[in-house]
Amino acid sequence: MQLRVTSLPGDGIGPEVTSQAICVLEEVASGFGHDLELDEKEIGGVALAKYGNPLPDATIQACLASHAVLLGAVGSPAFDQNPRERRPEAGLLRLRQELGAFANLRPAVYYPALAACSPLREEIVKGTDILIVRELLGGLYFGQPRSIEGNRGERHALNTMRYSEAEIDRIARVAFQLALTRRRRLLSVDKSNVLECSRLWREVVTSVACDFPGVDLSHMYVDSAAMSLALKPTDFDVILTENMFGDILSDQAGGVVGSLGLLASASLGGAVGLYEPVHGSAPDIAGRGIANPLGAILSVALMLRHTFNLPKEAECVEAGVTSTLMGGFRTRDLTRNGERAVTTEEMGGQIAEFVRLAAGTSGQGAS
Ligand code: NAD
Repeated sequence: MQLRVTSLPGDGIGPEVTSQAICVLEEVASGFGHDLELDEKEIGGVALAKYGNPLPDATIQACLASHAVLLGAVGSPAFDQNPRERRPEAGLLRLRQELGAFANLRPAVYYPALAACSPLREEIVKGTDILIVRELLGGLYFGQPRSIEGNRGERHALNTMRYSEAEIDRIARVAFQLALTRRRRLLSVDKSNVLECSRLWREVVTSVACDFPGVDLSHMYVDSAAMSLALKPTDFDVILTENMFGDILSDQAGGVVGSLGLLASASLGGAVGLYEPVHGSAPDIAGRGIANPLGAILSVALMLRHTFNLPKEAECVEAGVTSTLMGGFRTRDLTRNGERAVTTEEMGGQIAEFVRLAAGTSGQGAS
């Protein structure tokens, strides 16, 4: 199969983790006999510094001409004082819009080898396997009008939360479909006791449920969901929620399973899928070769499954992550009690090696 992928390493630890994810993808392509065509482009702070634009046209064109996009992270303190549209994050928000990526899938899975990394007791977190389906193109992050107005000392700020029935209906259908492939339990998270957007959300999700009688739908307020996620994470299967609630709950889910650095995401809905780790550019550790590349590598697994429909290859990458963790390899964010930390490159290299050997022994090799 031809795999045409645009890579956007971006800022901070983005290039460090993306290069490891690409090594794994290259190993999958050669081991399983696929033709990988890679193109690398700029986004975020690096694009701002070079072109004065966080999402240059050449980047959009390359992304739209590929089958899938692999992104590292955007964001840099150097641009913190810039107006919103000239910040690195504006490039990512626009890219999601350009790709029509309205459905953001964020799995959070417990690895037994990382029991010590969770702040929760093992008997509470053991077995956690959550899929957060976050609406990605609506809500507060995109709603108009938005502004900060007035003179210093008297300024007021405005953001708008806005959702249409059609926006809620399409993301709900994605979540119900995914629930059918899992334990068939869907929790819709909102704040319908306070917000009109949430009341509409709950009404539309409830009506979509009629088309999915095999899925058990329940509802919860976001504050209560945040508490339950910490108290009983194994109670959750698929969580469906709007943009900002999903942003916050998925970072919390990362904390529950051990590290934000482990979490991968897929943003789907348009012709081209966007895959990226959930974490940001982590300026505090950038350039030191210590970032955890697993979120980026697991994003490659999501790409293989969702864009290329290659479940065997996706499982091979996931097995590589599990086996590497079982083998005791830990980046610094995963070490406890004086355990030795490996570098980003060593961690990625272990998984690439696993894929190379697994593809060879399963007779999938191209040559
Ligand atoms: P962050 O995710 O970058 O970092 C939060 C904490 O987690 C930091 O202590 C960091 O060192 C640690 N961390 C994150 N990823 C890690 C990894 N792979 N390995 C080890 N440790 C890791 O969030 P932040 O500090 O709030 O934001 C930093 C910048 O990233 C900001 O400019 C923000 O806007 C941007 N950001 C970008 C994205 C994205 O590109 N999708 C997402 C979130 C934040």
